[in-house]
Amino acid sequence: MPNLPRITVWNEFRHEKAHADVAAVYPKGIHQAIADGLAAEGFPVRTATLDEPEHGLTDELLAQTDVLIWWGHMAHGEVRDEIVERVQRRVWAGMGLIVLHSGHFSKIFKRLMGTSCELKWREAGERERIWVVEPGHPIAAGLGEYFEIPHAEMYGERFDIPAPDQLVFVSWFQGGEVFRSGCCFYRGAGKVFYFRPGHETFPIYYQPEVRRVIANAAAWAAPARGPAVTFGQRKQPLEKL
Ligand code: ZN
Repeated sequence: MPNLPRITVWNEFRHEKAHADVAAVYPKGIHQAIADGLAAEGFPVRTATLDEPEHGLTDELLAQTDVLIWWGHMAHGEVRDEIVERVQRRVWAGMGLIVLHSGHFSKIFKRLMGTSCELKWREAGERERIWVVEPGHPIAAGLGEYFEIPHAEMYGERFDIPAPDQLVFVSWFQGGEVFRSGCCFYRGAGKVFYFRPGHETFPIYYQPEVRRVIANAAAWAAPARGPAVTFGQRKQPLEKL
């Protein structure tokens, strides 16, 4: 496939350093597991983490990023506001953003949604069945009617987000809750996809269906390279008045 989007996978990279059970699942970090899956599909992919200068998200790196993937959980508050604003401006300018799992509470996602992004949760290792509810959507390409994650953290509705522009997945959990697991949003010239799976103690980012979705989402979220938009006063009309 020509011109695959350039991807940067961002991870706060703290659980893997602090918790042996997480490091056992993701010895090179969650970001590297996701990057490995995308590299296997041929995407040019780089990684960035919280503790690097500018959280690894320099102007230069973002200018060379078509799609940014975001994983965070325990350190959302440590992400500097000016970096969040920098990412938001890039999204408005057309960069794609894929927010994973506990990234629902990240500063960048809450800022782009404008809502609390609260939800229900339970950590019991229960089964999750993810239903494709928009089979014609490119993010669902190659999947069956549903796929299952054998051990997952539960996220339940209500998920306090604005109504998605497109809803691709709905999850059912063994305990009975449901959740909007794959949500597409348009913000400025950019596309945002929220994808629920991915708790740090479960090997979810090695699962083929999950990798399929992330790769599909990266292709979908790539900049459309549509017209440059202009704003402001127009003294000269296009037609004679
Ligand atoms: Zn989690």
